[in-house]
Amino acid sequence: MREFENKVAFVTGASRGIGRAAAVRLAGGGATLALGYAGNDAAAQEAKALCEQAGSPKVALMKFDVGDPAACQKAIEDVVAALGGLNILVNNAGISIDGLILRYKAEDLERTLQVNLQSAFHLSKAAARPMLKAKGGAIVNLTSVVGEQGNAGQTAYSMAKAGLIGLTKSLARELGSRAIRVNAVSPGYIETDMTKELPEAARNAMVGVTALGRAGTAQECADAIAFLASDRASYITGEVLRVNGGMYM
Ligand code: NAP
Repeated sequence: MREFENKVAFVTGASRGIGRAAAVRLAGGGATLALGYAGNDAAAQEAKALCEQAGSPKVALMKFDVGDPAACQKAIEDVVAALGGLNILVNNAGISIDGLILRYKAEDLERTLQVNLQSAFHLSKAAARPMLKAKGGAIVNLTSVVGEQGNAGQTAYSMAKAGLIGLTKSLARELGSRAIRVNAVSPGYIETDMTKELPEAARNAMVGVTALGRAGTAQECADAIAFLASDRASYITGEVLRVNGGMYM
């Protein structure tokens, strides 16, 4: 039997980057999948086709804004209605609105916290019910090295990502007795759309502080996400697994 056979997994931000790679990885293990995304229909269709090719028995697309609490609640209800339950939630959707604090707008702070942090609270809250019904589950949150060590020009993003670590640990304590595990993956510098606009000098500086001397791939993050979502991690909860090439230890 494949690792995720008879499991329903919901990955947010699954149209591109790390989320897409995680969805395809879970699909390869036989998971039934819901793929969340914001607006890029072409990328979402491509991700769906890749998950089907990888071996998922059923793939549903969920287009909604994770920054909207009511939409998060509805998305979980839609996943359960369409796919028959929910066993794995990967809170991966994220944005970075960068800028130095002196010029940073209050609405950008609000949006950063809504999309990166509060989304995970609302989705996890709604997911807890079907997971309790299933007598177990796994939640994996995507934090960041920036949430752990900070970064000038990314204060809002860092606040959100640090908050996700608190959410991970508190929820792990709250839901552990019901066999629901909650963990986080903390990537370093990963080559995706999110990082492709970075100037060459910033890229070189980030690669320069890794022990491995290179950027990471979405696939390498996906493997860590799949591990924490799987039964191989059955005694791991409240953990933050770094996938940063030794950028921060
Ligand atoms: P990405 O390539 O920019 O993809 C972002 C994904 O999130 C897309 O699927 C996008 O959907 C979706 N999304 C964005 N805003 C959304 C919203 N409001 N509602 C619903 N979906 C939304 O990002 P990535 O680099 O793979 O990053 C994935 C996660 O890893 C993020 O949480 C990020 O903070 C974290 N991370 C990344 C790095 C890195 O170096 N790349 C490092 C540390 C942590 P559409 O395609 O529809 O726009």
